[in-house]
Amino acid sequence: MSVAALDTHPVPACVRSAREGFSAVPTTAWDGLETGEVRRLIGELSRLESQVAAHKMAAARVLEKARKAANAGDGPRPGTGTSTGATISFDFGGDRGSADALVNTAQRIEEQTTLIENALAAGVITTKQADLISRALAKLPDDVTAEQRERCEETLLKDAQKLTLKDLRRRAARITETYRKTTDEVDADEDEILRRREEEARKKTSFSMWDNNDGTVTGRFTLPEAQGAMLKTALDALAAPHQKVGTVNAATGEMDEVGFGQSYPQRLGHAFATLVEHLPADSLPSNGGVSAVVTVNLDLDTLMGGIKAAGLSDGTRISAGEARRLACSAQIVPMVLNGKPLPLDLGSANRYFNRSSRRAMEKRDGGCTTPGCDRDARWTEAHHLNPYAISKTTDIRDGALLCPFHHHRAHEQGWIGRINHDGHVEWKLPGSDTWQRNTRWRP
Ligand SMILES: [Zn+2]
Ligand SMILES: [Zn+2]
Repeated sequence: MSVAALDTHPVPACVRSAREGFSAVPTTAWDGLETGEVRRLIGELSRLESQVAAHKMAAARVLEKARKAANAGDGPRPGTGTSTGATISFDFGGDRGSADALVNTAQRIEEQTTLIENALAAGVITTKQADLISRALAKLPDDVTAEQRERCEETLLKDAQKLTLKDLRRRAARITETYRKTTDEVDADEDEILRRREEEARKKTSFSMWDNNDGTVTGRFTLPEAQGAMLKTALDALAAPHQKVGTVNAATGEMDEVGFGQSYPQRLGHAFATLVEHLPADSLPSNGGVSAVVTVNLDLDTLMGGIKAAGLSDGTRISAGEARRLACSAQIVPMVLNGKPLPLDLGSANRYFNRSSRRAMEKRDGGCTTPGCDRDARWTEAHHLNPYAISKTTDIRDGALLCPFHHHRAHEQGWIGRINHDGHVEWKLPGSDTWQRNTRWRP
C-alpha cells in the first residue's frame, strides 16, 4: 500500500487522532472537574476501552490469519513459528498471557457470536462480558438451531446491561430457557454445563510447593471453585481483623506495632498457617498405612523450657520455642523422648482444653491476656501456663488465652504467667520485674 493510500485508510487516521487527543490533555486536567462530570466521563472512558478492545481483536484476527496463511505455505519459515500472541506482546507490554487471551477471545467471538462484536465496538459491553457470553454460546447443546442461538445471544446481551459479571455467568448457565419448553430441560442443560465445567476443573487441579531453603516454602495451586470457596471462607474466618497487634513497650506504655504483618495477603498467609496447624490429621485417610500426622519430637528438657532444638517427624528442625508452642496447641502430637528408647506419648486428647474449659477461659479472659493487646477471644489460642501441665491437665487454672502472635512470643521468649488472687491472668514480660495484666477485657 502506498503512503497516500495509508493516509486515507480510516484505521490509521482514527488511531492517530485518538492518540493525539489523549496526548494533548495531561492527567492533571481532571482536577478541575465536578464529581458528577468525572463519574460520567469515567463511564465514557470504560466504553472507549471496549471500543479499543474490539479493534485490537479485529487486528489480532488479521495477524492470526496472516500467520496461518504463511504457515500453510511450504513449511515453516523463519519467524512464522511465533504465535500471534507472542508477536503482539513483543511489540508492546511483554504480557504474553493477555495477548494470547486477546487472540483466543477474538477468534471465539468471530466463530460463536453474531452481535457481540458490534456491541463491543459500540462500547455497549465490556471485554469480560463479551468473553463470558461467547464462552456461554460455545457451550450451547449440540441440538441448538441458528435461530435459538441468536435468541440466546440477544438475551445475554440485554442481561449484561443489568447484571454483575457473576450473575451474568449464572444466567448464562440457564440461557437455554429462552427456547426450551420445560424447566426440566433447562435444569438438565445447566447440569450438563456444570458437570462439564467440574470435569474440566478436576483436570486442571494441581498443587505444587517448593523449598526456598530459607525457612519458607512457596507454592501454587489450582482448585475447583467449590473447594476454592471453602478455602477462602475458612481463611477469611481465621484471618485476624485489621487491628494493631504487638507488645507493649515497657518504657512508653505504647504498643509497638509489630505483629504478623498487616496487609490482607499477609493476614491470609498466617490464617493459612493456622489452618494447616489445625488439620484434623488423625482423622484423615492414611496413605497406605503412612500416617498423615506430623509429630513434634522433643526432649522433656525442651518441653520444660530448655533451648535444645526439636524436630518434626519428617526431619524438619524447629526451635525449642516453636516446639513448645506446637505441643501447647491442639492437633500436633508431641513425642517426648526423654533420653529413653520409648517416647513418652503426650498425644492423648484429654490433655487439651476441651470445649467447655475453653468457653470458661473465654468468659474469664475475654480475649488475649497480653497487656495492651486488643484481640478478642475469637482470635485466641489456649496456652498452658505451666509447661508440665501440657502432659497432665486441662484445668483452666493452667490456661490463658493468647492471640496467635502473642502465643508465638510467649513460647519464643519464655513468658512467665500466673493467675492472680482475683482470678486474672498476669504476665511478667521479658525485661520487666512487675506482674502486668490486660485491663481491656476486665478492667
Ligand atoms: Zn502455649
Ligand atoms: Zn495478643
